[in-house]
Amino acid sequence: MDPRAENRLTFLGTGTSQGVPLIGCHCPVCRSDDPRDKRLRTSALITLHGDNFLIDAGPDFRQQMLTHHVENLRAILLTHEHVDHIFGLDDIRAFNWIQKRPADIYAERRVHTAIRRIFHYVFARWRYPGIPQMELHDVSDLPFRIGNAEFTPIRCFHHKLPVLGFRTGDLTYLTDVNAIPEKEMKKIRGTRMLVVNALRHEKHISHFNLEEALRLIEEISPRYSYLTHLSHSLGKHLDVEKTLPGNVFLAYDGLSVTL
Ligand SMILES: [Zn+2]
Ligand SMILES: [Zn+2]
Ligand SMILES: [Zn+2]
Repeated sequence: MDPRAENRLTFLGTGTSQGVPLIGCHCPVCRSDDPRDKRLRTSALITLHGDNFLIDAGPDFRQQMLTHHVENLRAILLTHEHVDHIFGLDDIRAFNWIQKRPADIYAERRVHTAIRRIFHYVFARWRYPGIPQMELHDVSDLPFRIGNAEFTPIRCFHHKLPVLGFRTGDLTYLTDVNAIPEKEMKKIRGTRMLVVNALRHEKHISHFNLEEALRLIEEISPRYSYLTHLSHSLGKHLDVEKTLPGNVFLAYDGLSVTL
């Protein structure tokens, strides 16, 4: 940990639940050789005062940690319990080993219940040697601190499923969202950087499509916005980005921005 390190947001994955390319798909996006069209499952690393905070740990977690040489995690924040956001958690074993302590996982209680069910062996009375160690921390709708960092949870909806977005300082990160109650919008206003999901062009039952994401961006009017959790049906990175307003960008895997 280096407290002088720059505060950054790094996109580790920007793809929807199946990733891009999709297995067996021969569409131009899935066949594209632009590396920005290769999207692992959505996850991001926020580095604040030298501490790494991971948002979501999907099935590509291991690869994302290796690619970005992440060897230390202060905490993992989970938006919700869908497979593409939590199924990498078994691989936190490596961090348990390096950091000599359980992984601190922040999520709401319903997500804890899912984790206890899916990773039941972690919480069993008799534990197989070498299994992951997790310490689950409750997140309500109130701001919470982890070390020197403060996070404000933002209650959003993923169709009917309540999910959490997170704001820290001037950054707001929202994924798997297609509705935000008005009182939660107050928590987002004034944010300088907004990350929001924009699945595709057509309407979707539980994700903002591009038009809806752009409408939110217009309403919040942040300095910079990045779109994530993208499907192959949105189009090629280069083609889509040309159509966006000047301060709105498609995120891509490996993009890292200063906060
Ligand atoms: Zn998702
Ligand atoms: Zn495709
Ligand atoms: Zn989801």
